[in-house]
Amino acid sequence: GASGTGGAADEAVQVLRRVFGYDAFRGSQREIIEHVVGGGDAVVLMPTGGGKSLCYQIPSLVRPGVGVVISPLIALMQDQVDALRALGVRAGFLNSTQDLEERRLVEAEFLAGELDLLYLAPERLRVEQTVQLLDRGKISLFAIDEAHCVAQWGHDFRPDYLALSMLHDRWPDVPRIALTATATEATHGEITSRLGMADARHFVASFDRPNIQYRIAAKNEPKKQLLELVRAEHAGDAGIVYCLSRASVEKTAQFLVDNGVAAVPYHAGLDARTRAGNQARFLREDGLVVVATIAFGMGIDKPDVRFVAHLDLPKSVEGYYQETGRAGRDGQPSTAWLAYGLQDVVQQRKMIDGSEGDDAHRRRLSGHLDAMLALCETVACRRVRLLAYFGQDSGPCGNCDTCLAPPQTWDGTVPAQKLLSTVVRLQRERGQKFGAGQIIDILMGRKTAKVIQFDHDALSVFGIGEDLREAEWRGVVRQLLAQGLLAVEGDYGTLVLTEASGEVLRGQREVPMRREPEKAARAAKAKA
Ligand code: ADP
Ligand code: ZN
Repeated sequence: GASGTGGAADEAVQVLRRVFGYDAFRGSQREIIEHVVGGGDAVVLMPTGGGKSLCYQIPSLVRPGVGVVISPLIALMQDQVDALRALGVRAGFLNSTQDLEERRLVEAEFLAGELDLLYLAPERLRVEQTVQLLDRGKISLFAIDEAHCVAQWGHDFRPDYLALSMLHDRWPDVPRIALTATATEATHGEITSRLGMADARHFVASFDRPNIQYRIAAKNEPKKQLLELVRAEHAGDAGIVYCLSRASVEKTAQFLVDNGVAAVPYHAGLDARTRAGNQARFLREDGLVVVATIAFGMGIDKPDVRFVAHLDLPKSVEGYYQETGRAGRDGQPSTAWLAYGLQDVVQQRKMIDGSEGDDAHRRRLSGHLDAMLALCETVACRRVRLLAYFGQDSGPCGNCDTCLAPPQTWDGTVPAQKLLSTVVRLQRERGQKFGAGQIIDILMGRKTAKVIQFDHDALSVFGIGEDLREAEWRGVVRQLLAQGLLAVEGDYGTLVLTEASGEVLRGQREVPMRREPEKAARAAKAKA
């Protein structure tokens, strides 16, 4: 039971030591916990691994009644509850995976005051029975985990979260704590307004993860590049590799195994038992690599993940930061490595164009992609760019790829003009649109079968770009896309002009570009 505030603070430390076995609070945990124990509302923005769980678990143990935790991570509830029970915490959960009998049992425990924590899937609250059940018990607090799910402009919106505004209407005296690891200012604002938490105290931790080295490389042969990374820097380390499709998850896992790296696949297409087995192995074994779609990792607490690799471009900076944040929770040096190429941009544009939902939704997805591309093509410190995205200022980190081997910039105006005029000519003179491959073949003066078939060697622009190599041209296309000076559309990734392209063509705008610093990066690493 709660006594005075001073006593409550002491009690919180005692619970930290006695129940969780930790010596001291981290960061602002103490402040947050004291505030919530005292009955205040809190909005907590803290990066993955920052220690959000204790911020509601301890107040639930200190305050009288049951702490009700709303979480979308249904697949993890059993694990979370088991872990708490192993510590002697009386925890239970209610979600759609349970049968009636299991649910009844938990409900009875709740009503009898035999629970400290009750995990609840958000959709449960739309069932009037659940609401009535909560009414009949004593609630110490509501914790809204993964609170960014309430933000329609965020990257992980869940409609069920919108209904959570009812918590305050229905139980105005119960304190609420909303927590998230992904918070741009826009998302933060939406959490505050949608949950009606303007009067809450807001705890915004630094999102910096200084022990993670951020690196973004041009994608050539992703599987081989990954293997090189593992062999050179992370042999025998635990890691997570993210791929966009199930097929590439399977292929990549097999490729690693064939090359002597212990790896397992994880995606929604595997049967539940295999998935659970692979997840359990990852948590238990040392040095296993999980190759996964983004379905993997949310809420997974493995402190010694030494690297997170992305073989496909993530859809948003928020998602990327959350995924890379799963590396190095123990504070030891870790790597976040991303390989991205032109094809990623084409593929994602295609997905956006074909996505369900209205124009606003597509614009939102498009904005997320643009921010991700800008991060990839930046010549500035990756960390500065990442933190700026979350509204936090910082100086160059000295530990990311662009800090260690600053990319040189070059004036790409002329190549940009050449490329854009090729796109214009094809369209104006021939009424044709083509993808990057054909445009580059034309620029480089290659008489491929397809060039001859379309008579493209007769164009005046044929061969005007022989001064650059193919990889450089692909870089030009990528950067024009990232800068909004070129766009891709349709199923075949055809290139089209944007409104801003005209300025480049008319010579009114310069186009600075980044030179891939491959040699420089190797030199820097050899020195280090
Ligand atoms: P988040 O939910 O913010 O990603 P968690 O709550 O899962 O982070 O905590 C990350 C890890 O840090 C967990 O292993 C947790 O037990 C540990 N941890 C949290 N707070 C402390 C603390 N005060 N002292 C030591 N370890 C802590
Ligand atoms: Zn840096």
